[in-house]
Amino acid sequence: MGKQVLTTCPYCGSGCQLYLNVENGKIVSSTPANGRTNEGNLCLKGHYGWDYLNDPQILTKRLTKPQIRKNGVLEEVEWDEAINYTAKRLNEIKEKYGPDSIMGTGCARGSGNEANFVMQKFMRAAVGTNNIDHCARVCHAPSVAGLQYSLGSGAMSISIPEIEDTKLLFVIGYNPAESHPIVARRIVKAKQKGAKIIVADPRITETARISDMHLQLKGGSNLALVQAMGNVIIAEGMVDQKFVDDHTLGYEEYKKTVEKYTPEYVESICHLPAETIRQAAREYAKAERAAILWGMGVCQFGQAVDVVKGLASLALLTGNFGGPSMGVGPVRGQNNVQGGCDMGALPNCYSGYQNVTDDAAREKFEKAWGVKLPKENGIPLTQVPHHVLDVKDEKKKLHAYYIFGEDPGQSDPDLNEMREALDKLDFVVMQDIYMNKTGLKADVILPATAWGEHDGVYSSADRGFQRIRKAVEPKGDLKTDWEIICLVSTAMGYPMSYKNTKEIWDEMRSLTPSFFGATYEKIEELGCVQWPCRDESMEDKGTPYLHKGGIFAHPNGKANFFATEWRAPGEIEDVEYPYTLSTVREVGHYSVRTMTGNCRTLTNLEDEPGWIQMSPEDCEKLNLKQGELIRVNSRRGSVMTRVMPTERVKTGATYMTYQWWIGACNELTVPYLDPVSNTPESKYCAINLEKIDDQ
Ligand code: SF4
Repeated sequence: MGKQVLTTCPYCGSGCQLYLNVENGKIVSSTPANGRTNEGNLCLKGHYGWDYLNDPQILTKRLTKPQIRKNGVLEEVEWDEAINYTAKRLNEIKEKYGPDSIMGTGCARGSGNEANFVMQKFMRAAVGTNNIDHCARVCHAPSVAGLQYSLGSGAMSISIPEIEDTKLLFVIGYNPAESHPIVARRIVKAKQKGAKIIVADPRITETARISDMHLQLKGGSNLALVQAMGNVIIAEGMVDQKFVDDHTLGYEEYKKTVEKYTPEYVESICHLPAETIRQAAREYAKAERAAILWGMGVCQFGQAVDVVKGLASLALLTGNFGGPSMGVGPVRGQNNVQGGCDMGALPNCYSGYQNVTDDAAREKFEKAWGVKLPKENGIPLTQVPHHVLDVKDEKKKLHAYYIFGEDPGQSDPDLNEMREALDKLDFVVMQDIYMNKTGLKADVILPATAWGEHDGVYSSADRGFQRIRKAVEPKGDLKTDWEIICLVSTAMGYPMSYKNTKEIWDEMRSLTPSFFGATYEKIEELGCVQWPCRDESMEDKGTPYLHKGGIFAHPNGKANFFATEWRAPGEIEDVEYPYTLSTVREVGHYSVRTMTGNCRTLTNLEDEPGWIQMSPEDCEKLNLKQGELIRVNSRRGSVMTRVMPTERVKTGATYMTYQWWIGACNELTVPYLDPVSNTPESKYCAINLEKIDDQ
């Protein structure tokens, strides 16, 4: 007997709703549902990304039993042994080196908000550290930090459905056709409704192709461009002075800093004609309402937080806050990376962005959890190698890493360094659904249920809480993520147990004022509730757009301007390494391919281990042909991949994905970090290219 189960797609922050069609306990297809963001549409991942639940064993076999490494070899064991061993080792390390010697991650993928809430509670209350972080650190952490400074809230101010009714979209460092196809659809609709589209991107993306103006700037020059636009808006008298006077602080200082960033001054930095920059600024400033959307092309740079603040400043200059279809949109990539942040899987805050350094917030959580909590911010995920390899004091370095639903062995920059750090750690726990590169270094493997096998809530990129639902029984000796974490916590001496995800959600709500009104019942009834939602009554249906009436989320209600000096990327091209490399995505696959790599249709669509996009001119210069195997080298590593000549890229620039086990470009990337957000500069490093025949 078949059934249909309504759930949320597990592949990007668009939060599309779909039905999983189940027959005889197996998923046989998916059907688009009429969700708030997708309106009966799905991209190919939504259509075909469920097959891994049937375990076709393409990339690797599903984990079905806990494992412990004994005499160097991973052996299957019973749950009791795995839980007790994990708890014993963590307690020993805590006893010997202190709680801050242990690091944990949350998971932005299949697990759901409840599991993330439980994980951060475990790290804080059971282990006693704020060393909890997740992959937001390698993506939109600069958006959170930058917008919190500028506006008091680190999330999208605009909703995904509102995009189509804006009058102008400024899309910078963001390729929605590959990262959020359903958001790309809204951009196309905006264009059809008459909106102007300005794209700033070094590549000719699909959005650039439909744009009215494409600023094909040099990689790493974002801040110079953004400040030049601010300069033009001020110089040409296009500032919304009343909005600036009534709702902002710091304008005079901002004005002074951007004064020198004339279009002529930044021409040689951005490799753009001054007049083009001037024209873009005029179009943006004169639009009746405008929105700025960005992605990894803003965030994965060493000066990302400054650029985010600069983009917020452009919107403030022009009064583009206060109503629908305007504002700022850092479009969160992974399906639940917004949720990982919302739930407090971050080293500096509890759920709802309540700071761990805020005495009142900390005391509230201490009272609820019956334990003293640490006062200092924890270690960001990208600092793990440094805290293992460089810190000499045994009491101050990291000794254990509990990795829940992440694969730093493939997804983090400079993989040689990361592998060395994983080798040096005393104890590594991996909790996941498939074996991955990190698992090759783990001491314990805890197999968990996947999306489709458990219940919960995801947060979409535009702050929307939506339900995920169990469709099939897990195959194997598996537990849900939150159950596993509760068992480890209890075995460590801090009992945690919940009957179901609703009980976890209710505890989270009771401690988080801005989410308190988003009950399971309300989410069921409305399909989606966007935070803030403070009141349990049905009167409060959530908040589609932030900063209504120009009232910002800082205690004084004002927003902050910001500008600073532009600086070049950390590693620039030279004679030895004359090309630049930027990481990008492949539309048919997700993250490190744990799930999509085990979906037959998606794998059939793209089954080669990666490629490098290069300009036809560079290919000709190096005598390289389409599909030819080449070696790509950086100062940190070397990989083989295939050549893809394309007119989309500028000469001197190349692009690769990090998604493939072979030829993963994070062997090459640089661990240079933004000083505020600790996000790596994955969009820029220097490489050289060798023909395989020549070796
Ligand atoms: Fe929608 Fe994103 Fe899933 Fe595609 S991957 S169906 S755009 S949520």
